[in-house]
Amino acid sequence: MNNQAFIQRDAAVLWHPCTQMKDHETLPVVPIKSGKGVWLEDFEGNRYLDAISSWWVNLFGHANPYINQALKEQLDTLEHVILSGMTHNAAITLAEKLVEITPANLSKVFYADSGSAAIEVALKMSFHYWQNRGQKQKTKFIALDNSYHGETLGALAVCNLGYFKEIYAPLLMEVITVPSPDCFHRETGESWRDYSIRRFAEMEQTIAEHADSVAAVIVEPLVQGAGRMRMYDPVYLTLLRAACDKYNVHLIADEIAVGFGRTGTMFACEQAGISPDFICLSKGLSGGYLPLSVVLTHDEVYQAFYDDYQNLTAFLHSHSYCGNPLACRAGVATIEIFQQQNIIQKNIPLALALATATERFRDHPNVAEVRQTGMILAIEFVKNKHTGEAFAWQERRNLKVYQYALSKGLLLRPISNVIYFMPPYVITEQEIAWMVDVTWDALNFAVQG
Ligand SMILES: *Cc1c(COP(=O)(O)O)cnc(C)c1O
Repeated sequence: MNNQAFIQRDAAVLWHPCTQMKDHETLPVVPIKSGKGVWLEDFEGNRYLDAISSWWVNLFGHANPYINQALKEQLDTLEHVILSGMTHNAAITLAEKLVEITPANLSKVFYADSGSAAIEVALKMSFHYWQNRGQKQKTKFIALDNSYHGETLGALAVCNLGYFKEIYAPLLMEVITVPSPDCFHRETGESWRDYSIRRFAEMEQTIAEHADSVAAVIVEPLVQGAGRMRMYDPVYLTLLRAACDKYNVHLIADEIAVGFGRTGTMFACEQAGISPDFICLSKGLSGGYLPLSVVLTHDEVYQAFYDDYQNLTAFLHSHSYCGNPLACRAGVATIEIFQQQNIIQKNIPLALALATATERFRDHPNVAEVRQTGMILAIEFVKNKHTGEAFAWQERRNLKVYQYALSKGLLLRPISNVIYFMPPYVITEQEIAWMVDVTWDALNFAVQG
């Protein structure tokens, strides 16, 4: 069958995520037949470089031989088992490895099945901790402006992206929102560090003011992903940890997007030298293979739930596929690759290659900023470089970038007026150079007229 046949069958039955389906009248979906490394291939032999790791999940390429082998073994051993009352090797091994590689003190692993579900778990656990400890008034959460934490109702409530959230507002719990340290808004000449410190004053004030009623502060460490890859300095997290300690409020680190090396360290929190009370991981956790997420917390939280059954303090939360053996085994193989191949070190020259290749964008008349944190590089384009005036969103210039790049064999997915690269770590320096060249042409195509 050729692409067209799949496109027709798809249109008859599928409703795609995060999509105005009417767009597909003019912009057909791309049926993918197979993947290998950074490349995806359709049914007519066209290839697409996956510059966004298929929504930030893939770390070591599609059809990675090492992960494939691990999964084949697992498949013939145990595909799934209930995780209440039962356990299995893959879930235990992955939990051991996560405790080993995540920041200090995070010693207990709770499994869920998607990023959003992990956020729900962390919010409920933090709230429930304070209930169990007798601090019944600690029921609220503080989140940053421009934040994204997923789309189930609890996770959506702590998001602050208008277009995802507004319509659902009547369904959502109220959250205290604090301005983002997003360094795009710093003054000219001001460093990321100085701006992040300056912005922290509002956070400190809010925590101090609401400490009695707040369970936790939730942040995406260093990079606000869906919020257009806006970035800030680690010092903000260092200050936040200290304030949370001072005012007795939990810190939830949503490393669903930034974990597993994306920011240049295994976890973004490392750059601030901090350990959160809860860390949420998903996306890269299974190497981009299977839906899986975890929340890690420390013993003090665990102990608040650990009691005689009759006291009814247990954490009653579950998903049918919690700790699925296949997904966990993919996770184990993924961490083994990090360790055996010293990936964090190996990524340093790749991050540098990204920086070098995109240098010329800085002088482009439609580029407001090129910013980078580790293996994430973003290019913010504007109508007028000097005034900072943006293109009207209705013009959908991002879609033009997407379409042009796709026609050349490059999968980008700009968010609003931000083009970004978050490639699998198996990309080569030559592929980076090619990817950036195509992007240069795509940008020029999109900003004209
Ligand atoms: C993707 C993402 C989520 C939600 O994960 P899903 O698996 O899509 O539910 C939450 N937080 C951040 C920071 C994310 O990037």
